[in-house]
Amino acid sequence: MKKTFTFRQSDLEQADKCLESLRLKYSEPIEQPYTSDLARGNAVHNAIEYVGNEMIRSGEVPSWDEVKPIIDEAMLIECKLVEDWRTSPEETEETIQNNFEAWYWEVFPHLSPIAVEQEFNVLLDETKDRKIHLSGTIDWIDESGLILDWKNPTRPYQRWEKVRWDNQSTVYTYAVACSDGNFDERPFQLVMLCKGKVHTIDITRGPRDWEALKSKCHALADLIDANLNSYPQGWNSWYCSPKWCAHWSQCRGAHLGDDPQW
Ligand code: SF4
Repeated sequence: MKKTFTFRQSDLEQADKCLESLRLKYSEPIEQPYTSDLARGNAVHNAIEYVGNEMIRSGEVPSWDEVKPIIDEAMLIECKLVEDWRTSPEETEETIQNNFEAWYWEVFPHLSPIAVEQEFNVLLDETKDRKIHLSGTIDWIDESGLILDWKNPTRPYQRWEKVRWDNQSTVYTYAVACSDGNFDERPFQLVMLCKGKVHTIDITRGPRDWEALKSKCHALADLIDANLNSYPQGWNSWYCSPKWCAHWSQCRGAHLGDDPQW
C-alpha cells in the first residue's frame, strides 16, 4: 500500500523556518494564544471574502456603504477573541479599518473574482511506494488568471526574498494548473496591506518551479519516513526566539531560559 503525504504550504514554510519546529508542531501540539496580529489578518480576510463572494453571487460591485458594516462587524468579532495584544486595541482596530479601506479603493477596482477561499487537495507526485498531495485554501482567483493572496504584515516583505523562496506561490499556481489542466507558467500576486498602504509583489511560477517543489516535498517525506526522535534545529531563523517559537521552552529555551539576553 502506498504511503500518502499531504503538505500544506504552511508546513513548507514551517520547515523552511526550522525543521524541528515542524516536527514538534505535529508531535507535541501547543495551543497558542490568539494574537492581535491574527485578529488583524482574519478580520480583513473575512471582509474581503464577503465582498468577493457577493460579487460572484450578484455580478455587481458592492458599494462602500454596503461593505463598511461588514468590516466593522468582522473587526468586533475578531478583536473580542484576542488574548495577546501585540499592538494596542486602538492601533489594531485602526489598522484593520485602514487596510480594508485601502484594499477596497485601490485593489478591488482592478479585480473580478471567479473564486474566493478556494480549497484544494491535489496530487503533486506519485512513485511506486508514495503519493504526495498538496492541500490548502487560495484567497482569490481572478478572471484574468491572476492568483492573489492577502497579507496584513506590519511592514512589506522584501521582493527578492519572496521571488526566490516563497512556497505559497508555487503551491497555489500548481493547484490551479491541476484544476484547469493548463500547466504553463502562471502569475501570482502577494498583496500586502500595511497600516493602510498597499504593496504588491508579482511572482511567476511554472513547470520548473513545480518540479523543484516535488523534490522538496520528497525530501520532507523522506525525513518523516525516517521516524527520527528529533530534526535539525534552525537557529539562524528569525523564528527561533521565545517571542515566535511556540516550542521554545522545550527546545533552546530549556537551556537559555525565556530571556536569552540577545
Ligand atoms: S526553539 Fe528554535 S530550534 Fe527549537 S524548535 Fe523552536 S525554532 Fe526550532
